Amino acid sequence: MVQTSQEIIDQTQEYGAKNYHPLPVVIAKAEGVWVEDPEGNRYMDMLSAYSAVNQGHRHPKIIDALKKQADAVTLTSRAFHNDQLGPWYEKICKLTNKEMALPMNTGAEAVETAIKTARRWAYDVKGVAEDQAEIIACVGNFHGRTMTAVSLSSETEYKRGFGPMLPGIKLIPYGDIDALKAAINENTAGFLFEPIQGEAGIVIPPEGFLKEAYDVCKENKVLYIADEIQAGLGRSGKMFACDWEDVTPDILILGKALGGGVFPISCIVANKDILGVFNPGSHGSTFGGNPLACAVSVASLEVLEEENLADRSLELGNYMMDELRKIDNPIIEEVRGKGLFVGVELTESARPYCEQLKEKGLLCKETHENVIRFAPPLIIEKDDLDWAIDQIKEVLKG
Ligand code: PLP
Repeated sequence: MVQTSQEIIDQTQEYGAKNYHPLPVVIAKAEGVWVEDPEGNRYMDMLSAYSAVNQGHRHPKIIDALKKQADAVTLTSRAFHNDQLGPWYEKICKLTNKEMALPMNTGAEAVETAIKTARRWAYDVKGVAEDQAEIIACVGNFHGRTMTAVSLSSETEYKRGFGPMLPGIKLIPYGDIDALKAAINENTAGFLFEPIQGEAGIVIPPEGFLKEAYDVCKENKVLYIADEIQAGLGRSGKMFACDWEDVTPDILILGKALGGGVFPISCIVANKDILGVFNPGSHGSTFGGNPLACAVSVASLEVLEEENLADRSLELGNYMMDELRKIDNPIIEEVRGKGLFVGVELTESARPYCEQLKEKGLLCKETHENVIRFAPPLIIEKDDLDWAIDQIKEVLKG
């Protein structure tokens, strides 16, 4: 039985928890930058599953790795070794120039892992008194939906009805170096931040902040922890968004495009003096480091490198922003971004514009009420991007 889009939407409404508000489009097929609904209508994907599909939908090399691995072994748990985990460890460590990695599945789990690492490091290495460790995070952050991640959040709706929250968290305004200095004390374990705040509306910190914050952390023996789950892996026009200020975080958190939009995998990477705090029994995950995820992830990282997707993102992102800045309409407050990670801030709700763009065959999603986020797969061809820019101009010119 082939269901229509409306039937599927009705079924979803009937049985699904209402924790999302999707645009009324059903995707049944996808390839590259294009997706298709059950009726055969084609749309360009300008969201890339919140940057999980940087390599494009169903990249042939990644799908090939998935199929080959599915025919060999899919899950062993960590009770045994598997033959894909070692090569993945080496690949991710060499790419990030770090000594150790710890794989998980979703972004929020990797954030949990980073917080656990920082806390244990604070007790075992820094010498913080028992249960006193503090994490500094930023107003407007998004680190996921687990209890730790929402405890870090400044959004009341992310926390309402879920208390009590995790203690030991301090928030500072994003990009405020003096506030960071003032928040640090002898109990501070780590400073956790997004180098570009994605969910907050593609918010870029003041130039120099990433480097200054790094120096402040070093001076005070505080771990510098970058959540690059959305901004990393080519999205910002560099392999990692921290590369914009030439800083290497103590702990780097990755997810989303680490699995090429094909299979969930996330991780943290760090040097041995930090990630060495774990011992058998202290942390884990049944699916973390599974062979299917590892095989898919190695292929996903190779695609990023072989196709120079970070450089492509930089070049096409600059071009796209130049074009969007030409739109003359007072409702456009700002066009900002780095690489193909572009936010258009409006003076009014962005949702109706996303709905109009959908009617024109272009899928994107509002973030934080009045920002439209444009984040196409990084494999996008210039002709396709030009088509997208034409549709955006039509809708936004007023
Ligand atoms: N951190 C950042 C910066 C994110 O953008 C996201 C997801 O949007 C997460 C963490 C959470 O990742 P996940 O949804 O895979 O748990």
